[in-house]
Amino acid sequence: MRAGPALRRRSELTRDSLSWFGPGAALRTAARRAASCVECGQALRSRRTPYCSRGCRWRFHGRYFWDAARRVVLRRDHYTCQACGLRSRKSALDVDHIREIAVGGAPLDYDNLQTLCRPCHRAKTSRFLRDRRGSRAAPLPSAPDPRSEGPEWFPA
Ligand SMILES: [Zn+2]
Ligand SMILES: [Zn+2]
Repeated sequence: MRAGPALRRRSELTRDSLSWFGPGAALRTAARRAASCVECGQALRSRRTPYCSRGCRWRFHGRYFWDAARRVVLRRDHYTCQACGLRSRKSALDVDHIREIAVGGAPLDYDNLQTLCRPCHRAKTSRFLRDRRGSRAAPLPSAPDPRSEGPEWFPA
């Protein structure tokens, strides 16, 4: 498979690494020490990087960097809105949390992410807010899933 433009943008990945946060960094360090790929567990030939391949680096990054995850999801969905089927350029598309973070949706799970066009995303968000207002009685999850704790800048 041909490498997407995202894979070629090394400088962007470097920039993304500024937003690297705790759990991911700790996992990477542990993987380097153990000389096994942080993503798939395969033995590493060198301890210079915690990834056995570019594919593993990419998947791992996507789980810990919002920008990288966004690119992975847009590509997976072929730059097509999953609600109305509109195919568009990257800048006109949003990556949406299928189950909102506010109600316990996982922020960095690919299965919880989908591509939506702006209008569909806006419609979904206002529907969500309206439903939530309408069902105040519904209890919110008492303790958040520790895996879903993201940085504060994480978009909804
Ligand atoms: Zn690997
Ligand atoms: Zn749409």
